[in-house]
Amino acid sequence: MQIQAPRGTRDVLPADSFRWQYLESKMRQAAALAGYREVRTPVFEHTELFLRGVGDTTDIVQKEMYTFKDKGDRSITLKPEGTAGAARCFLEHNLYAEALPCKMYYLDAPIFRYENPQSGRLREHHQFGLECFGAQEATADAELILLAYHLLEELGIRNLKVKINSIGCPKCRPAYHRTLKDYLADRLDGLCEDCRERFDRNPLRALDCKERKCRELTKDAPSMLDLLCDECRAHFEELKGCLDSAGIPYTVDSRIVRGLDYYTKTVFELITETKDGSLTVCGGGRYDNLVGEIGGPSLPAVGFGMGLERVLMLLEGEGITLPEPRWYDIFITYMGSHRADAFRLVQALRAEGIRADLDHCGRSLKAQFKYANKTGAPLTGVIGDEEAAAGAVKIKNMATGEEQTVTAQDAPALIRQIIQ
Ligand code: ATP
Ligand code: MG
Repeated sequence: MQIQAPRGTRDVLPADSFRWQYLESKMRQAAALAGYREVRTPVFEHTELFLRGVGDTTDIVQKEMYTFKDKGDRSITLKPEGTAGAARCFLEHNLYAEALPCKMYYLDAPIFRYENPQSGRLREHHQFGLECFGAQEATADAELILLAYHLLEELGIRNLKVKINSIGCPKCRPAYHRTLKDYLADRLDGLCEDCRERFDRNPLRALDCKERKCRELTKDAPSMLDLLCDECRAHFEELKGCLDSAGIPYTVDSRIVRGLDYYTKTVFELITETKDGSLTVCGGGRYDNLVGEIGGPSLPAVGFGMGLERVLMLLEGEGITLPEPRWYDIFITYMGSHRADAFRLVQALRAEGIRADLDHCGRSLKAQFKYANKTGAPLTGVIGDEEAAAGAVKIKNMATGEEQTVTAQDAPALIRQIIQ
C-alpha cells in the first residue's frame, strides 16, 4: 500500500513553492523595516514550557498538543505556537541583559496542533511571528498591528478588519473575572462542556468559544473595557491614538480575548470575510507575564502570529497571482552523440549565472523540444552535428521564432542580451 502524508498536513510542491518564497521575502522585508531580526528555535521543546507558558486551561494545551515521550523518557512537545519558544530562547541566552527592546521574528515556523482538519485548519501549519521583548509602551503594540495590516494590504488582501481589545492586567482582571462569572453563572447550563469546565479558572474563554450556543449566551456579557484600571485604560487609549493617527480602520471588540492564558492588556486579530465565513489570519497581543511565568524577570512583551497557509488561501480566494520566477532561461537540446557538448555548455552557462538545463532522460531530439517548450524557457539551444563540429549552438527565441548560431564562448552574452 502506498503511504500517504498524515491527515492535516500539506506538501508544498516544487511548482508552488515560489508562492511561499514570495510571501517570505515580503515578510522579511516588513520585519526588517521595523528592526526585527530573525530567530530560529527548535521544532520541539520540553512540554513543561507550554504548560507554564501557554497555560493549562487553553484549547492548545488541553486538546491540541503533539506530546510524546522520547527515548530518554522526557516529555517532548512539538511547538503548538511560536511565542513560548521565542521567550524561552530570549531567557536562556540572557538577551534581556542586552539593550532592550529585543525584537525578533520567526518565519515559516512549523506549528503542530491536533485539530479537526478542515478548510484553513491544519495539523501542521506555518507561522510568521514577531515578538518584541522589553517594550511596555503602546507604540510597540501599535507598530505590530500596523506591520501586519500593511503587509497583508500590500499583498493585495482586501476587506481586512482589525479588531482590538484590552483584557487588562493582574490588577484589574480579577474584578472582571468575578463580574463575568456572575453573569455566566446564571447561564452555565447553556454553555458547552469546555466553557463549563473552564468557568472557574478561565471564564474569559467563554467569550472566545466557537460554539454557537456559547456565542449567543455571551452576546451581552459585561466588557472588560468598563473595568480596566487606570494604567490599562491609558495604555489602550494610547494604542487607539496610534492607530487613529496611522489612519487604519479598526474596531474595538470586547469579545476578542484570544485563546492563550499569557495575554495582558492588548489583544488583536486581523480578520477577513471569505465565502466560508470569517477567517482570522493574524492574532496577537501583549504578554507582560509570560517571561516571568517561565522563570525569567518580570518583563513586558508583545507579539503576533500570522498563519502562512491562511494568507495563501486568502490570496487564492481573491484571485491574486503572485509573480512566478522563470524556471529556465534556456533549455539546451542535442543530438544523442553530442550529450557531452551539451553538458559542457550548460555548465558554462550556469557558471555565468544563466538558468540552463539539458535532457537527462534519453529523449529524442523531438521529445527534447517538446519538453523544453513545456518548461516555458524563453530560449532553446540546439546542438546538432553542424553546431558540434563548429563548437557552436543554435539559439532559438521561442517567442519570435528567430534563430542565431553562436560559438559556445559567445553564447552567454547573446543569451543575456535576449532575455533582458
Ligand atoms: P483559531 O481561532 O482560528 O483556532 P487560534 O486563536 O488558535 O486561531 P493563534 O494561536 O492565534 O490561532 O495562531 C495565529 C494564527 O495562526 C491564526 O490567526 C491563523 O492564521 C493561524 N492558525 C492557527 N491555527 C491554525 C491551523 N490549525 N491551521 C492553519 N492555520 C492556523
Ligand atoms: Mg485554534
